[in-house]
Amino acid sequence: MHKDLKEILISPEELEAGIKKLGGRISKDYAGRCVTLVGVLKGCILFMSDLAKNISLDTRMDFMMLSSYSGAHSTGVVRILLDLKESIEDCDVLIIEDIVDSGLTMEYMLQNLKTRRPRSLEICTLLDKPTRRRANIPIKYTGFTIEDKFVVGYGLDYNGIYRNLPYIGELKESAIEIRK
Ligand code: 5GP
Repeated sequence: MHKDLKEILISPEELEAGIKKLGGRISKDYAGRCVTLVGVLKGCILFMSDLAKNISLDTRMDFMMLSSYSGAHSTGVVRILLDLKESIEDCDVLIIEDIVDSGLTMEYMLQNLKTRRPRSLEICTLLDKPTRRRANIPIKYTGFTIEDKFVVGYGLDYNGIYRNLPYIGELKESAIEIRK
């Protein structure tokens, strides 16, 4: 375990099993269709690549980058830093997110992508932290529901670090303070 972590919350084996299940459900639900996976950078990178390998359908992949977070506290302000490359009109779009916390980022994404007239639009998140929800958004696919802890690893960062850890862990308070 990384020295800056308090504990591992979701092991590599648990991640693998959870993502396999999600991929199976998605493959069944969208059978016969092509799914457009819209990854929210940068947190989605490890999740999206592992999830895509577990989807047995044709897929397209596109990405958006939003800014809504600085450090360990949500500001609720969302800006598009990088937009989709392709049109999603008439496509079955599945937003791939690392974690839904307040839900404000996903609320913005849904509103924004709906205006582009997709055939369907759903959310798939690796992690859900429902206790801090401020926007009531529909999440179709959730990998793991977690308590209100600041987590890193498997795509999730703190000040840009820890994304490469193959597990999800809780950051020590001391690591948050040191890097402020
Ligand atoms: P929301 O708009 O739902 O409050 O926040 C969504 C974004 O906040 C996520 O995409 C993620 O980047 C960031 N975030 C929320 N909770 C955590 C957390 O526990 N750890 C990390 N690393 N990022 C988080």
